[in-house]
Amino acid sequence: MDRFGFLGLGIMGSAMARNLLRAGYEVIVWNRTPERCSPLAGVGARLGRTPGEVARACPVTLAMVADPSASGQLCFGDDGVLEAMGPGKGYVDFSTVDPETSRRIASAVRAKGGRFLEAPVSGSRKPAEDGTLVILAAGDRPLYDDVLPALEVLGQKCLYLGDVGAGAAMKLVVNLVMGEMMVALCEAMALARRAGLSCDGLLDVLSAGALANPLFAQKGPKMLAGDFEPSFPLKHAQKDLRLALALGDRLAQPLPTAAAANECFKAARALGADDEDFSAVFRAVSA
Ligand code: NAP
Repeated sequence: MDRFGFLGLGIMGSAMARNLLRAGYEVIVWNRTPERCSPLAGVGARLGRTPGEVARACPVTLAMVADPSASGQLCFGDDGVLEAMGPGKGYVDFSTVDPETSRRIASAVRAKGGRFLEAPVSGSRKPAEDGTLVILAAGDRPLYDDVLPALEVLGQKCLYLGDVGAGAAMKLVVNLVMGEMMVALCEAMALARRAGLSCDGLLDVLSAGALANPLFAQKGPKMLAGDFEPSFPLKHAQKDLRLALALGDRLAQPLPTAAAANECFKAARALGADDEDFSAVFRAVSA
């Protein structure tokens, strides 16, 4: 397989499509806002006019868009992916969505004879650029085997988790941990500050023991510097907590800490932090 469609050229999609081009694949791209295609065209991508046009031209089409509504529109919208699906066609959606959205897309694609894989990723802008994502795939196993060489260009670790829904659920569980850890760090820094302690000193202490982790090490100093340049937009982090809470609702799993973290992210959105990095939740927690 040497040609892929790629739909959605945001922070993650641009970096991933670029890595496929760099690895020698032919890539046909589409983005809702067409201007975002230009940098990819500059490094050899062909342009498609609609998701359906891209999917018709490629044996396998990949997608990386914002949320369940965007994933649904790509698939079910006018000249969407579904219109191009048929026997022999594959569709891989990397977007972080809920298991229900993923299953709805999978059954529509399969009803037309196509193959579907959900493949949400763990890792942010830098891992996407470096090709070191962790890919949480689930769905059609033969499709997974066919696209694995390309997934290995994008990720350092590719996992096949079984039926559609398992990848989406795993991703939401992982991002629940990330959201809670981020709010824990924000509260600790806010409290340290009020207690007259040095926040740099706090980060130093945290990094020295059992609580050391790359998230605190990478985000902490930037948060103290007021640098909220987005790697992972805050609106998407809140979406992930919202979807994790909905999963908890459906399964009657109490998630009190995630619910509290979600309220912090909502407060940050109300401050206008949607398009800042998710670490900007610090602005709400320390207000
Ligand atoms: P982003 O920079 O905000 O890009 C979002 C992309 O979705 C853009 O291409 C946008 O198109 C497109 N989009 C939004 N609504 C759409 C719609 N209704 N129809 C078609 N396209 C639509 O986001 P990102 O950071 O790349 O994240 C993409 C996905 O990866 C999200 O599900 C996110 O949760 C997940 N993720 C992100 C990270 C990260 O660190 N950034 C890490 C892991 C997973 P326009 O350009 O037209 O707006």
